[in-house]
Amino acid sequence: MNKYHGRSTTVLRPRNTKEVSEIVKHCNERRIGIVPQGGNTGLVGGSVPIKDELVISLGNMTNIRSFDDASGILVADAGCILQSLSDYLAPHDHIVPLDLGAKGSCQIGGNVSTNAGGLRLLRYGSLHGSVLGLEVVLPDGTILDQLTTLRKDNTGYDLKQLFIGAEGTLGIVTGVSILAASAPQASNNVMLALPTFDNVLPLYREVKRQLSEILSAFEFIDRRAYDLAVKHGQGRALNESDVEGAECFVLVETSGSKREHDEEKLNTLLENLMEAEPSLINTGVLASSPAQFASLWAIREGLTESMSKEGKAYKYDISVPLHKFKEVIDTTRDHLQSKGLMRDDAVKHVVGYGHVGDGNLHLNVVADAYTPEIESALEPFVYELVAKYKGSISAEHGIGVMKTHALPYSKNAVSIEVMKRIKHLFDPNGIMNPGKVLEL
Ligand SMILES: Cc1cc2nc3c(=O)[nH]c(=O)nc-3n(C[C@H](O)[C@H](O)[C@H](O)COP(=O)(O)OP(=O)(O)OC[C@H]3O[C@@H](n4cnc5c(N)ncnc54)[C@H](O)[C@@H]3O)c2cc1C
Repeated sequence: MNKYHGRSTTVLRPRNTKEVSEIVKHCNERRIGIVPQGGNTGLVGGSVPIKDELVISLGNMTNIRSFDDASGILVADAGCILQSLSDYLAPHDHIVPLDLGAKGSCQIGGNVSTNAGGLRLLRYGSLHGSVLGLEVVLPDGTILDQLTTLRKDNTGYDLKQLFIGAEGTLGIVTGVSILAASAPQASNNVMLALPTFDNVLPLYREVKRQLSEILSAFEFIDRRAYDLAVKHGQGRALNESDVEGAECFVLVETSGSKREHDEEKLNTLLENLMEAEPSLINTGVLASSPAQFASLWAIREGLTESMSKEGKAYKYDISVPLHKFKEVIDTTRDHLQSKGLMRDDAVKHVVGYGHVGDGNLHLNVVADAYTPEIESALEPFVYELVAKYKGSISAEHGIGVMKTHALPYSKNAVSIEVMKRIKHLFDPNGIMNPGKVLEL
């Protein structure tokens, strides 16, 4: 995002857990701050030093430790890139239960540490469910070996859960045991163009009802976001006639075990949608080849990148009730307009897209430059809006350094106090990713 900059002079790239442990012990004894770094694709500045902390990159820890194709349990070093795990699992007919646009760079340890949601959460649930065990180097250098491959283990506190989404503030994840899913034998997708946002919810109900167990993604893209993706060359643009009059789009993916069965369901859904009076959709573009399947996904997956290419993006990754998605986008735009900031040399676009199935909206405000004026117009405005709808200020990207001040909008005082006590228990010297999640 080019938004956060530290002054670190040193990056260490350990090759194994023992080396991580030795470095951390050394740092703890000398009170040297540490920033664990995975693929550095995080969007809230969590992997960037604030001052001159030592950066520990996990990029050299890329061994796959074991895979059992009967249970589907994969154990891997934290530095494995998500895409390489997917490539490893493909010949074994399995997939990682997690997929996101940054898969070519992000690491499984980073995914766990941010509790990344992504495009498959609707189908496979969150990492709090699919991660079975972790190996973690604690802030004093102790190796906590919880790398279990058990699906069921009710022996007291489930310690691994604390590190999932801790953003490197409680320790360094060095190994991950995760339940891979059977690879679907048939996947398909369709981009639906909707005349109005009001149709998104009824459409979601209908799609769930008709596709049921084969529905694997339901992604929302508003018209401005779609136009920016196309402008910056993400995926192949739909035909003019398909996008004409569309206020927003929904990308639906199916994954199942029998192609004919799934195609029949998807075709019937499309027919029913087109024939309904009034129709919920203008049109639907069904992928007819693997290339088109990839191209439709590329539009969705390329949105983050296209925002960065268009300008400086203020990113709000929020959970709000589904029926409030559009209201949040429109209210934010109106607010910036009333402040006189909706102009080419200030805020160029206010767009929204996200994982409808998870109630997760990515509100992006794309500006010519990051300025204090825009920031003070947006914050706490956006956070107050989220709090009003009893939402979350961070649905999946985390708190990092970007949102520490805003934590009270989503966590009450007692919860924050308990978080501080946990942090102190694990890291009494405050060396582990200082200033992230909790303010210094
Ligand atoms: C194009 C694009 C699309 C994205 N889509 C999604 C999406 O759909 N869903 C989503 O949730 N996020 C998404 N993200 C955000 C980001 O990719 C995720 O947060 C990802 O999980 C971060 O992984 P990483 O390895 O890059 O971690 P980094 O960015 O390196 O680090 C993220 C945080 O985790 C900590 N950390 C990293 N590795 C470790 C470790 N081994 N042990 C302890 N702490 C560690 C860091 O200190 C930091 O606080 C997207 C980002 C981009 C650029």
